[in-house]
Amino acid sequence: MSDDHSARARGPAPAATTVAGGPPVAVGPLAGRTGGPVLRPGDDGFDDECSGYQTAFRHRPDVVVGAAAPDDVRAAVEFAAENGLPVGVQATGHGSPAPLEGGVLIATHRMDGVRIDPAARSAWVAAGARWQQVVDAAAAHGLAPLSGSSPHVGAVGYTLGGGIGLLSRRYGYAADHVRRIDIVTADARLRRVTAESDPDLFWALRGGGRGFGAVTGVEIGLVPITRIYGGGLTFAADRMDDVLDAYAAWTAAVPEELTSSLTMVAMPDLPAVPAPMRGRHVATVSVAYIGGACEGERLVAPLRGVGPRLKDTLRDMPFTESGAVHAEPAQPHAYAGDSAMIGGVDGAALRAVRDLAGPEAPVMCVVGLRHLGGALARPPEAANAVPHRPAAFSLGVLSPVDGADPAAVRAAHGRVLAVVAGRTLGRSVNFAFGAGRAADPSGLHPAGDLRRLDALRRRLDPGGVFRHARPGTAARGR
Ligand SMILES: Cc1cc2nc3c(=O)[nH]c(=O)nc-3n(C[C@H](O)[C@H](O)[C@H](O)COP(=O)(O)OP(=O)(O)OC[C@H]3O[C@@H](n4cnc5c(N)ncnc54)[C@H](O)[C@@H]3O)c2cc1C
Repeated sequence: MSDDHSARARGPAPAATTVAGGPPVAVGPLAGRTGGPVLRPGDDGFDDECSGYQTAFRHRPDVVVGAAAPDDVRAAVEFAAENGLPVGVQATGHGSPAPLEGGVLIATHRMDGVRIDPAARSAWVAAGARWQQVVDAAAAHGLAPLSGSSPHVGAVGYTLGGGIGLLSRRYGYAADHVRRIDIVTADARLRRVTAESDPDLFWALRGGGRGFGAVTGVEIGLVPITRIYGGGLTFAADRMDDVLDAYAAWTAAVPEELTSSLTMVAMPDLPAVPAPMRGRHVATVSVAYIGGACEGERLVAPLRGVGPRLKDTLRDMPFTESGAVHAEPAQPHAYAGDSAMIGGVDGAALRAVRDLAGPEAPVMCVVGLRHLGGALARPPEAANAVPHRPAAFSLGVLSPVDGADPAAVRAAHGRVLAVVAGRTLGRSVNFAFGAGRAADPSGLHPAGDLRRLDALRRRLDPGGVFRHARPGTAARGR
C-alpha cells in the first residue's frame, strides 16, 4: 500500500472566505493543487472534516484541506505560507491542544496507509493511520507496534509525543523506535528526516514533535509479539485501600515484561454503565504481560488475593485484541485532563488521590496511574526529546467537561496532582488534554530541552506557520 492510496475526491473549488474581523482569503488556487477536497465554512462536509474525538471544541479554520497524499500537505503548507496563515494538523482529534481559529487545517485521515517490511521488522505508517490499522497489518507478519491503550488514537500524533504503550516497560517509548520521519516544513519542503540526515530535527520530532511541520508518515520498528496475557481486574470501593497498597507494592516487584496501570473512577449511576459498576467507586488494574497465561496468572495472584472482583477479564489474547485491555471509549466526547510524571507512589498518596477524585469530588474525575520504568527509563540508541525518563509512574486525571465549569475542573485536577507535587518531575506531552493545559508548555520538557526545541522551531519556521501546535502560543488565525 502506498502513502497516497486514498481515493482522490475532488472537492468544490471555493473562491474566497473570511473569518470574523479578517480580510478574505482567496482559496481558489489551492483547490486546483490538491487531490483531496478543499472545503471552506458552509461547504458540505466542512464541519465533519474539522471534527474529531475531542468535542469540547472544534477547529474553525478559513479552509480545511482533506489531504489525500504528501503533495496535498505540501500544497496546503505552501498556500498558508504565501498568505501568512497558520496551519493546524488533525488526524483523529484525540489530542489537539486548542481549536485552530482561522488559517488552514490539514486533515490527514485519508492518508491511512500502512506498509510492513517483515525483513526489516518495520512499518511505514502514513499520517492519518490509527493504531488498530498498524496492529492488524503488523500481526499478519507476527509483529506488533508499540501502540497504546486506545486502538483509535493516531499512530503519528501519539509517537510525536513520545508514546507510552502496552508493551512499554519491555520496549520503551514508541518514539524510541522511529527510524525515519517525512515532514513538510514551513518552507513547504517535504523532508526525509533520519538520524543521519538531520540529527537535530530527528531528536526533536521524537518526543517534542509538535509545531515543526506536518508529518506525512513515519517508519517505525516493530517487535516480535503476537499474543499477550491481558485484561483488567476491577474492585469495588470496600477493597480500594487494600488494592492501592497491593498495587504500590506489586509494581515494585513485577518484571519488565509486565506493563500495567491503575484506574480509579466514581462511575455515574447511568443505564449505559454495566450493572456491576453502575454508581460505584471502582479501581481497575489493567495488565499487558508478554508471556504465557500460566506465568501471567502467577504474577497477578497477589492482586487477585486482595479479594473478589466486580470484573476479571484477564486472559490470553492475540495482540490484535489488545484494545480490550483498557477498553477505552471510541465515542467522541468532551474532556480535559493533565498529568504528572512522578518518581514513586505509596498507598497513602494513592488514598489521598482517591479521596480527592472520588464520589465527593466537585467534578467526575478519572484517575489513571501508569507504571513506567524498565525500558522507558533507559536512553534509546539515538537520543530523542522524550523527557522525564526516571519517572516511575505517570499520574493522570481526566474529566468529562460537557456543561462543567472549566475553572472547577482545573481546580479539581490541580488538587489531585498537588498530592504528588513533591515527587513530580514534569508533565506528559501526550496526557495534557483540552484548551489551556495542553497549550501550556510548563513542565513538558526540562528547561534546556525546551530552549533547544523552541530554537529549532524558530529556525525552521521563523514566520510561525505552525504556531498553532507550538506549546505556549495562542491558537489564533490572524
Ligand atoms: C482515549 C485516549 C487514549 C490514549 N492513550 C494513550 C496511550 O496509551 N499512550 C500515550 O502515549 N498517549 C495516549 N493518548 C494520548 C494521545 O497519544 C495524544 O493525544 C496524541 O496526540 C493523539 O494523536 P492523534 O493524532 O490521534 O490526535 P490529534 O488530535 O489529531 O493530534 C494531536 C496533536 O498531534 C498533532 N499531529 C497529529 N498528526 C500530526 C502530523 N501528521 N504532523 C504534525 N502534527 C500532528 C496535532 O496537530 C495535534 O497537536 C490517549 C489519548 C486518548 C484521548
